[in-house]
Amino acid sequence: MRPDIAPGAAVHEMSLNETYHPPLPAVVEAVRETATRSHRTLDALGFGLSAAIGEHLGVPARDVLVGPGSGALLQQLFSALTGPGTHTVHAWPSWEAYPMMAANASSSVVRVPLKDERHDLDAMADAVTDDTRMVLVCNPNNPTGTAVGPGAVEEFLRRLPDHVTVVLDEAYRDFATEGSVPDGIELYREDPRVCVVRTFSKSYGLLSLRVGYLVGHPSLLDPLRPLQMFVRVSAPAQAAAVAALAHSAEIREQCRETAAERERLHRVLTEQGWVSAHSEANFVWLPLEKGVEEFTQHCADRGVVVCGKPGEGVRVTIAERAANDAFAALAADYRASLD
Ligand code: PMP
Repeated sequence: MRPDIAPGAAVHEMSLNETYHPPLPAVVEAVRETATRSHRTLDALGFGLSAAIGEHLGVPARDVLVGPGSGALLQQLFSALTGPGTHTVHAWPSWEAYPMMAANASSSVVRVPLKDERHDLDAMADAVTDDTRMVLVCNPNNPTGTAVGPGAVEEFLRRLPDHVTVVLDEAYRDFATEGSVPDGIELYREDPRVCVVRTFSKSYGLLSLRVGYLVGHPSLLDPLRPLQMFVRVSAPAQAAAVAALAHSAEIREQCRETAAERERLHRVLTEQGWVSAHSEANFVWLPLEKGVEEFTQHCADRGVVVCGKPGEGVRVTIAERAANDAFAALAADYRASLD
């Protein structure tokens, strides 16, 4: 839920999980250069980008499928693997698009409540039946930012039957502390049921260019390939992603900076008395049963836009230091008004 914003109000945008780092100059140049050849077909199916991603991750290009955002690829998985009479198991709250995608595929979801703000992997394994086609683990989770660690995910995989596909949604993994989130690529290498979706929208800062990718075994990806003709990544977006990958070290540095700001904001909020689970993503989550609309509007009226989920809490995307400080000051005011 986005609050009302008065026209012209000075705004710190902290509701959309965007990075506050604009694309690197080399990325902008790659887009510009490719745009000059937009009248040509170029690499329609993104073989060059798949090869660059494969090389970056150390996986065969054949195990990589690119699409216009990881959301589009997730929708393709729902359409290919699920349908009437089948369902997908995922945690709740998690990314609100999952149930919409299931509905688009005429299937349904089983939402397993988080436990202490984290995926309850035992309850998720218990929820799997013969009709389950997919199990989705958003790690770190949107909107809570919480992560499930390598040991817990491996144990979870051991409990799942062979007929399910396990989708690890790692949209925010680049912001996580080393070792806190398993590397889905290692898990996919060892387990043919596992696939991983990642995106250039968050850490790589290409949100509006729309590039995501899926890493999985050919038995999963090959049936999806014929559709790629209709869900292509534009040539400038492909070029941007290839250029951004070549600058991964700078991107990692930006992610470290974001993570340091996240830790700082979390500490300040904790000192103010807010209780919030540790986030491994580029946002923090304040659980709030009541007053979500009021708090998000209180912030918007003062130029800070955060994302409210009525009855559940408020998600605040990490932004520049000044924006984080502006939010922290409003959070302090709001708490004081409750006392
Ligand atoms: N997964 C998660 C958990 C997300 O929050 C989002 C975006 N909000 C996506 C995937 C999709 O991102 P994109 O389509 O931009 O790659």
